[in-house]
Amino acid sequence: MAKLENSLIPVGISACLMGQKVRFDGGHKRSRYCLDVLSECFEFKSFCPEVAVGLGTPREPIRLVDMPQGRRVVGTKDPSIDVTDALKDYAEQVYQAAPELCGYILMKGSPSCGMERVKVYHANGNPNVAGSGLYAERLMQLHPALPVEEEGRLQDAVLRENFITRVFVYHDWKTDVVPELSLHKMLQFHSRHKYQLMAHHYQGYRVLGRFLAQEAPRLPVAEAAETYLKELMAFLRRPATRKTHSNVLMHIMGYLKKHLDSATRHDLLSAIEDYRTKKVHLVVPLSLLQHYLKRYGSEYILSQAYLNPYPHELGLRNYI
Ligand code: SF4
Repeated sequence: MAKLENSLIPVGISACLMGQKVRFDGGHKRSRYCLDVLSECFEFKSFCPEVAVGLGTPREPIRLVDMPQGRRVVGTKDPSIDVTDALKDYAEQVYQAAPELCGYILMKGSPSCGMERVKVYHANGNPNVAGSGLYAERLMQLHPALPVEEEGRLQDAVLRENFITRVFVYHDWKTDVVPELSLHKMLQFHSRHKYQLMAHHYQGYRVLGRFLAQEAPRLPVAEAAETYLKELMAFLRRPATRKTHSNVLMHIMGYLKKHLDSATRHDLLSAIEDYRTKKVHLVVPLSLLQHYLKRYGSEYILSQAYLNPYPHELGLRNYI
């Protein structure tokens, strides 16, 4: 895949995933997928919160512990090492220093970087529940709309496609809407993302449409934009399914109705049904549809983000 030099999207990442030897044991967790594939469209900005707060490499491991005064991140052997506040402060520094980020890929299981299912202990050392790493948790609180995912979960084709879609939507918002923020721009964006949002959350499309029509005009534009983006990104977190994609494909096919003869319509319907019933991947009905859209599609339908949500070289729709 050719590197998209001029349009690399800034995405944060746990430094150990970039192959940097910053882990407590002096090692790394180099992610081949991030470095060899995603770096063709993302410009990774790496952060190691534990090194940033002054813990050396190698170092004593730390862990999450629920104490009477709340959840803390302390040394596994020496609980007097407490980096809770420093990790939270560092998340705030990153948030301030790198507002350009359009996504973040985290290392799983880390008491600092883990997104979820990180072990949390009782003060007496027994395992308690599972939670998020402190740095990751603070970052997600500060930046609720930011697409965040764990590297391990990117192995799953549906979660991978979902995360990358969200990063591209977020980037589109930042580059197309934010520089000329207005209600009109938001309406155009919403219209262009109609089918993409419908594939993830049919109701979400309607809810946000109502918000833009009825509530947003009464709010300061920055407040309306913040609310819209937060809700949009939350709706997009729900992965699209074969059923929801099939509904969207049928809707899009409706735009071609009067241009297609019955044999062609039958071919398209069969391809969508084959996809819905798991005989083929999404790329099959979509490629067929796009073939006819190129010839007969209106400007409106051709502008839909759903048709080209990310560089097709990533091949994501070959697996879902
Ligand atoms: S998981 Fe986070 S804190 Fe741990 S080594 Fe990797 S980047 Fe550093």
